[in-house]
Amino acid sequence: MCPLISRRFPDFIIAIFSLVVFFPAAVFANAQDAKDAGGLQVVTTLFPTYDFAKQVGKDKVNVSLLLPPGIEAHAFEPKPSDIVKINKADIFIYTGKYMEPWVEDALKGVSNRNLLVVDASAGIEIAVKDGCRDPHIWLDLGNAQVMVERIAKALARKDPANSDFYSSNAREYNTRLAALDKRFKETLSGCRQKTLIYGGHSAFGYFARRYGLRHDSPYAGFSPDAEPTPKAIAKLVDKIRQSGMKHVFHEELLDPKVARTIASETGAHLMLLHGAHNVSRDELKNGATFLQFMEEDLDKLKIGLECK
Ligand SMILES: [Zn+2]
Repeated sequence: MCPLISRRFPDFIIAIFSLVVFFPAAVFANAQDAKDAGGLQVVTTLFPTYDFAKQVGKDKVNVSLLLPPGIEAHAFEPKPSDIVKINKADIFIYTGKYMEPWVEDALKGVSNRNLLVVDASAGIEIAVKDGCRDPHIWLDLGNAQVMVERIAKALARKDPANSDFYSSNAREYNTRLAALDKRFKETLSGCRQKTLIYGGHSAFGYFARRYGLRHDSPYAGFSPDAEPTPKAIAKLVDKIRQSGMKHVFHEELLDPKVARTIASETGAHLMLLHGAHNVSRDELKNGATFLQFMEEDLDKLKIGLECK
């Protein structure tokens, strides 16, 4: 099952109307506080664009993450208060229409004519499998660098006086992404196992392609919405048995029940491979970064795929 390209919210427009009429004063107050804090107000949808905007904008931007911590990203739908947040921002950055099909409708509720809307997937080739489009572009570290550049350009457009600051931060950050990309390439070219067997949804397609791996998940499509069939799970159990793999990877922020089933059938150990869609409350509090998640993933892949 593919995620719907455009979801309709029958109540959505009504919610916007009630928002205009019964606009809560507290929301105005909070937004005003944020404005008083100075700098560009940037609202992003998912964690990667949130972190990229922070790395590029540093102390000259106030970045907020629309997704509440701990929320599974594919199931997210905005509340009227989220539309208020977007409406109050200088820049709104989303991952792309296949990751956030709700954006098109949400923007209809935005009246701020000065809002700069940034589609971070622009210029990135979207992968298609079985007629479904894969939204997980950020897990290809080449794509991630394109996203960072796009974000830097958007910040410069809204704040031209600091244009050099943003472009030099983006260059510096992209150098770090490129260095990690090189480490992934070197490490993952020398593994005994060549298939990334994932007990979560198919999030690592771009990643696997970049590093010459196969990616297997029992979930159809690219979101965890539909439960996998017993047949799909049995197929992965067979693959693990045949390959002698000792680890099965699972996704962040969801109960790994499918991966646990595969693990108990095969004796393989569970291992978190973080797709960085969103963060938990603790991860956010501890200042987790995209690079940190990717570095931890590298360490785990090295064990799970039995790399040199
Ligand atoms: Zn996903």
